[in-house]
Amino acid sequence: MENGIKRWHIFRLQGSLVSLKFPVAMLLVLFGVIPMVVCTQVLMGALRQSQTDARMVEVQNQCQILSSKMTRAGYLRGDLRDGTMDSEIQAMADVYNGRIVIINRDFRIIQDTFHIAERRFLVAEEVVRCFQGESSSKYNKEKHYFAQAVPIYDNTPIKGIEGVLVITASTEGILTLMDVVQDKVVFMQLLMTLILFLTAAAVVTVLLKPFKELQKKLNQVAAGALDTDISTEGYRETREISHAVGNTISKLKEVDQSRQEFVSNVSHELKTPITSIRVLADSLMSMEEVPVELYREFMEDISDEIDRESKIIDDLLALVKMDKSEAEINLSQVDIVALVKQILKRLRPIANRRKVELILESIRGVTADVDEMKLSLAISNLVENAIKYNSMEGWVRVTVDADHKFFYVKVADSGIGIPEEEQDRIFERFYRVDKARSRQTGGSGLGLAITRRVVLMHKGAIRLSSKEGEGSTFTLRIPLNYIA
Ligand code: ADP
Repeated sequence: MENGIKRWHIFRLQGSLVSLKFPVAMLLVLFGVIPMVVCTQVLMGALRQSQTDARMVEVQNQCQILSSKMTRAGYLRGDLRDGTMDSEIQAMADVYNGRIVIINRDFRIIQDTFHIAERRFLVAEEVVRCFQGESSSKYNKEKHYFAQAVPIYDNTPIKGIEGVLVITASTEGILTLMDVVQDKVVFMQLLMTLILFLTAAAVVTVLLKPFKELQKKLNQVAAGALDTDISTEGYRETREISHAVGNTISKLKEVDQSRQEFVSNVSHELKTPITSIRVLADSLMSMEEVPVELYREFMEDISDEIDRESKIIDDLLALVKMDKSEAEINLSQVDIVALVKQILKRLRPIANRRKVELILESIRGVTADVDEMKLSLAISNLVENAIKYNSMEGWVRVTVDADHKFFYVKVADSGIGIPEEEQDRIFERFYRVDKARSRQTGGSGLGLAITRRVVLMHKGAIRLSSKEGEGSTFTLRIPLNYIA
């Protein structure tokens, strides 16, 4: 039990290391936050691109309109150079936060809205291509600007190209706008993450409630309230855990109960001979002038009781020793027939006293890997019982047999037999069919429990068949070779 409580403490300690809440909440948050961040990033990228594209298309259209106007006005030939066109060019450059350069057929700049390159030559690839009738449009992502070249036609019916309009415009304005949007989006994302965290915390608390409940009940059990109802139906998992723990607790209770029963049986058994001794001694003392014969008779009874007490103690010690899980088994090759012969020889005087005939039937010679001392104790108990619970002038037949795997020792008697309903219980410690008779015969009530334990230690089995009033047969089946 103490061990059990220690284990509970360890469980609780480990529980406080990483709560299940943490991974569950993290999963919920990750599944919410990651898709949200990815989606908004993709959307922001697409929005930035479409804004730039729209701006470029718009500027191109405006340039074409401006170019047509210049064609109509014969701007490049200087037909109408009153400054109206120049201010229109300047206005457009300002609107798009850019620079417009007009180049004539000699590749000379005739108008520059920045007024720094007028009369200089500009022979760029785009300009040359534009003179061949190809408009161009280029976007520089790193420096955030785009450049477009649009041809300016002359106003003759032949429609030759007489100049080129080159505009370079910055997209910083779009980027600034996008930065503002981005800030708002990040703020919204943070807000959403916070809401997700709070929701996840609330959801996790609800999800883990049955586990919490179970833990609370188990803590009560650990504190000693073994009868606490720990069934928790919240989930299949909690139900299964509570069932498994419930079964363990029932087993623990059974073990605890049988231990208590054993202790009370032991105390009772040990007390009985002492009570008898006290009664005998008291009555001797209360008598005056006791005749020697009576004195002797009482002393013999006292001596018998002492023998019984010492047998109970010996048997108890033997049983407790064998009950230990690390109980040793000292194996050696033993001649089973010789062993049984020796037992019968030792018990013959007791049998003779009750006029019980002891018969040994050895069907074949048997040698096996056994613990000689323990097996001898087990067989002796059976033969002793067969003599004790026999009728006067009855018989006990011990048969030794074997096959290729096991050997068998059968102890049959012509005694009082054992009622069917008691047959399962007689192997329990201190269990007796007829309490009075068993005590009279000096039994400790532990003989069959010891025998069964020895047989189990040898990985064998014991079987009983008996009919009340007709006799009993106990059969041991033990492997010839012990396999660990
Ligand atoms: P005990 O010391 O009382 O003999 P055991 O454990 O050897 O204790 O036996 C348990 C009980 O089983 C006995 O009290 C007796 O009632 C019954 N028993 C055992 N062997 C026999 C037998 N051969 N014939 C009839 N009853 C038996």
